[in-house]
Amino acid sequence: MFNLPNWAFEFHGHKCPFMPIGYRMGTLAMELLDVGKTQNHEMHVFSEMGIGHPQGCMQDGIMSATGATFGKGLIEKLYYGKVAATFYYPGKGAVRIFLKNSFADSLAPHEFFKYRKKGVEPSEIPDEVRMDIINMVLDADVDDLFEVTKLPDFTYTPVKGSFNKAKCEVCGEYVFERYLRVKDGKKVCIPCSEHNIAEVTIPKP
Ligand SMILES: [Zn+2]
Ligand SMILES: [Zn+2]
Repeated sequence: MFNLPNWAFEFHGHKCPFMPIGYRMGTLAMELLDVGKTQNHEMHVFSEMGIGHPQGCMQDGIMSATGATFGKGLIEKLYYGKVAATFYYPGKGAVRIFLKNSFADSLAPHEFFKYRKKGVEPSEIPDEVRMDIINMVLDADVDDLFEVTKLPDFTYTPVKGSFNKAKCEVCGEYVFERYLRVKDGKKVCIPCSEHNIAEVTIPKP
C-alpha cells in the first residue's frame, strides 16, 4: 500500500479520495523526473483542473507531495476540467499525468459518491466509507491509476522575481511594480485604475 503521510490529510482538512490521487500523481512525477521535493522554486505544475467539480482536492495532494505550492507561485490552473497535470522541472524535462478514465469509472459507483451527490460534505461521511475509497487509491497499481506522457520539448520560463514596489498615487498602498497601471498620468494599483468616482450619477426622482 502507498504510504501517505497523515499530515497531508491534516493540511487538506478532510479525508477524501482525490487528495491522495494528487499526492500519488506528484510522487510519480518526482520519480519520473528523478527529482526530490521542491524546497525553493524548482518544480512548476500546470493543473488542468477547473472550478465547480470536486476533484480539485487533488491539487492539495500535488502541492503536499511535490512542494510546488500555490504560495510559492509554483502551481497554475489551466481550467480544462480534466484530472491531469503537467510537471516541469528545469533541466529534467516535463511529464503530463492523467487519471485514467478506467480508474475514475472504478471509483464512481462507490458509496462515498452517493453521500457526496446528496450534498454530504466529506468530513460528515462515515469514516469506514471514506477509508474504503481512500484505500482503493492507496492500494492501486500506479499503472492502473495514471497515463503518463513524457514531454521532452516542453519549455517554460518562469516570471523573474522582483522586490521592486511603489506607492499607488491614489490609495497610497504599496504595489509590486508588475501590477502598477497608469491612469490620468498617475501610477496606480489595479483597483484604483478601475474605479472612477466621477462616473457615479444620482438618479433623478
Ligand atoms: Zn478533499
Ligand atoms: Zn490604489
